[in-house]
Amino acid sequence: MKALLIGEYREGKLLDTTYELCGFAAQLGGESAMLLVGSEGQLPDYGGTLYLADAAACGEYNPDLHKKLILETVARENPDYVVFVHSSYGWDLAPRVAAALKAAQVSEIVALADGGFEVGCCNAKMRRTVKPATSKAVLTIQAGAFPVTRPGGTPRVERLAAEGSGTLEFVGYEPAEAKGVDLTRAEVIVSAGRGVGKKENVPVIAALAKALGGELGASRPVVDAGWVDHSHQVGTTGQTVSPKLYVACGISGAIQHLAGMKKSDFIVAINKDKDAPIGEVADVLVVADVLQFAPALTARLAK
Ligand SMILES: Cc1cc2nc3c(=O)[nH]c(=O)nc-3n(C[C@H](O)[C@H](O)[C@H](O)COP(=O)(O)OP(=O)(O)OC[C@H]3O[C@@H](n4cnc5c(N)ncnc54)[C@H](O)[C@@H]3O)c2cc1C
Repeated sequence: MKALLIGEYREGKLLDTTYELCGFAAQLGGESAMLLVGSEGQLPDYGGTLYLADAAACGEYNPDLHKKLILETVARENPDYVVFVHSSYGWDLAPRVAAALKAAQVSEIVALADGGFEVGCCNAKMRRTVKPATSKAVLTIQAGAFPVTRPGGTPRVERLAAEGSGTLEFVGYEPAEAKGVDLTRAEVIVSAGRGVGKKENVPVIAALAKALGGELGASRPVVDAGWVDHSHQVGTTGQTVSPKLYVACGISGAIQHLAGMKKSDFIVAINKDKDAPIGEVADVLVVADVLQFAPALTARLAK
């Protein structure tokens, strides 16, 4: 089994998600090689073969050219799998590569399954297991689903010439307009999940956040229901945070939420269900009704 990992590089920086690809490859077993459109000055801690194209020469975002580089590397390495992160970079390139290779594409993999891959469905409430029916397959992995793994070592670099142009001209990145709260700077975040029950209960969680000197965060269903503004959302489609203390109130611990908060220094989860997946990342799991526990804690902090 051989995997070609497509590293991620943006705005002059190697992204940590590149090492999630290594975590995936480690679980998959077998060999791997990596392709990175990046920079000589920022080589990954990866002791395998690294196909490197210069982002300054071919552009960080040039799907036609990047596809060409990937296909060239596929021809040299003959991998069983070409693996991307399910990011805006990966979800743009992966279908182009799959179509060119006439290969199956499996998107948003969250785990390995017996002979196949588990992917989320029904808004990540269920998982289905699929097996590619072609000899090669193009895969995208859900950010946060596989551990950040630094294989270590110095890569054996094979330089790729970045020749040609493409049908798109990359103009630049523009940061989303900052509105509402910037959770990335908060030292304490107390987040409300669907377990808080209804909009009228959100102030109970906001009061705890205030008592701890922190900000209010939220899971996506809470935002989708209109209980809290999107600027408070934590997760893959919200903000990625790493506060000193993260308190998850009535949050189950779906991968998309964990991807946004699991780097927090200390995680407390309050959940009625002792088996909720959030328990796997929490330093402390309080098994309680959050609507009883949170106000009691706020009152105690006030004393
Ligand atoms: C493409 C995509 C992107 C996504 N992006 C995000 C994202 O950015 N952020 C995000 O959060 N989600 C995201 N999701 C959704 C994600 O998959 C989950 O559905 C979501 O995180 C679940 O939110 P939750 O934990 O609040 O709700 P649930 O999963 O419904 O969990 C509620 C929890 O509350 C507990 N509970 C219930 N009542 C109480 C009580 N009284 N006291 C204590 N505990 C109680 C339950 O035991 C349960 O564990 C995304 C999904 C997809 C498909």
